[in-house]
Amino acid sequence: MCRSSAVLSFPSFPLDSTNKMEEKDPNCNPMQPLLEGGDGSQNPPPPPPEKALQQPGPEDYKNFDIVRATQYGVFERIQEIIENGFDVNTMDKENVSLLHWAAINNRLDIVKYFASKGAIVDRFGGDLNSTPLHWATRQGHLPMVVLLMSYGADPSVRDGEGCSCIHLASQFGHTSIVAYLIAKGQDVDFLDKNGMTALMWASYRVFGYDPARLLLTFGAKVNTSDKYQQNTPLHWACVTGNNVVAKLLLDAGANLDAINAKGESPLDVAAQQKNPGLVRKIRELRQERGLDMPHCLVKYTANKSIRRRVTFIFPFIFLFGIGYIPECSLSFEIKALLAGILFLYWRTCSYFFFDDRLWHILPYILVEATYLQDTIFTIVTLLLTFNFYKSWKSDPGFIKADRVDKIKGILELAETQSLQLSQFCTTCLIRRPLRSKHCSVCNKCVAKFDHHCPWVENCVGANTHKYFVSYLFFLFILICWCMYGTVCC
Ligand SMILES: [Zn+2]
Ligand SMILES: [Zn+2]
Repeated sequence: MCRSSAVLSFPSFPLDSTNKMEEKDPNCNPMQPLLEGGDGSQNPPPPPPEKALQQPGPEDYKNFDIVRATQYGVFERIQEIIENGFDVNTMDKENVSLLHWAAINNRLDIVKYFASKGAIVDRFGGDLNSTPLHWATRQGHLPMVVLLMSYGADPSVRDGEGCSCIHLASQFGHTSIVAYLIAKGQDVDFLDKNGMTALMWASYRVFGYDPARLLLTFGAKVNTSDKYQQNTPLHWACVTGNNVVAKLLLDAGANLDAINAKGESPLDVAAQQKNPGLVRKIRELRQERGLDMPHCLVKYTANKSIRRRVTFIFPFIFLFGIGYIPECSLSFEIKALLAGILFLYWRTCSYFFFDDRLWHILPYILVEATYLQDTIFTIVTLLLTFNFYKSWKSDPGFIKADRVDKIKGILELAETQSLQLSQFCTTCLIRRPLRSKHCSVCNKCVAKFDHHCPWVENCVGANTHKYFVSYLFFLFILICWCMYGTVCC
């Protein structure tokens, strides 16, 4: 049984060599100047290529030494050697323990066997002086991490580069391991030897929403800086042009004035890296927060309540203008002038005052507009309004869980080997039920998610499907009525 599993899990070796290449890339290692003298190479050396390519047959298994037997998962051969008196804690010639080899290749049964024979769990070994738990974490083997920690492996010990498990998991984008470590009590802001947090590593190395979003949800500090380069997570995201994480950090309130050891702000770093998208985004935010004064209107445009009022009033004036100008009995030149003024009004408001808050108040405006309809439509209008209101204000089916439930959920999923990102929401920290989805606008998971509708400023989900469809139905009737009135009367 074990031999067949060894054959199936054979490709674990090429994984090791991939990792080695990644670690050797100096561009990928922000600590390179601090690590002079070390080549930053990864501990587990891959087997010679000719051996890795040749899949061993059953005859070869019998002659394997204990290290190869562990790498390939040949349980009977391991048992045979250990029962003959081999010490399970013996280090091989590369200063690596058997538990390391079992951990990096995700050999759960063999780790259990070694543990029963007294293997030391937190044994340091390899070029980077790291533990089996470090090796399993780098490879993203969550079941192995869970198993090793059940034997008392300590995720907070640091390897030769100064990284603990949460840093490694964040660097390599293993979000489920990050979630598990935090759920097991690891401090989300735990520092590595260089004063880097997991969020800094994720900002620097992982070009996707996870695991940065998960760390932020767990309350990771956005504005701490590391010990040597004094970069904040936003600086690190700017260094590698990680626009995805930079946007998350900006939304989470990252400090735009933070200065690193070279005296640079995140904007300076983004400009140096020739990242126009990020530079524009940071400049916009600086203006919004009143840090820059590009025009005299800024004290009004930066004022939230003024922006809101202008946005609220705008549609009434604009819609009135559209209706009034063609109908009024003024000369063509005056009408053209008025149309020009209306156009300018629209462009000025949208440039200086509008933002995504427009969508939050659009429903008020629509309700107002609905009541302006002819009284003939009263019943239909009331039904329309009712359904519209329910679609707008109802809970569409947000999935709720408190912090204790979330932690419990992560531990349960990880320990039953079912913590998969396709089913787990890294923002809400819950397992997504079938047909549910995370809405990026509402920032919550919604049961039976259909879409987020900006016209009702709410999700269409399990609880609001019927109201939304009814709303569309009555809207359709009203539109038909209006068209009938326009064309036939
Ligand atoms: Zn969610
Ligand atoms: Zn939504």
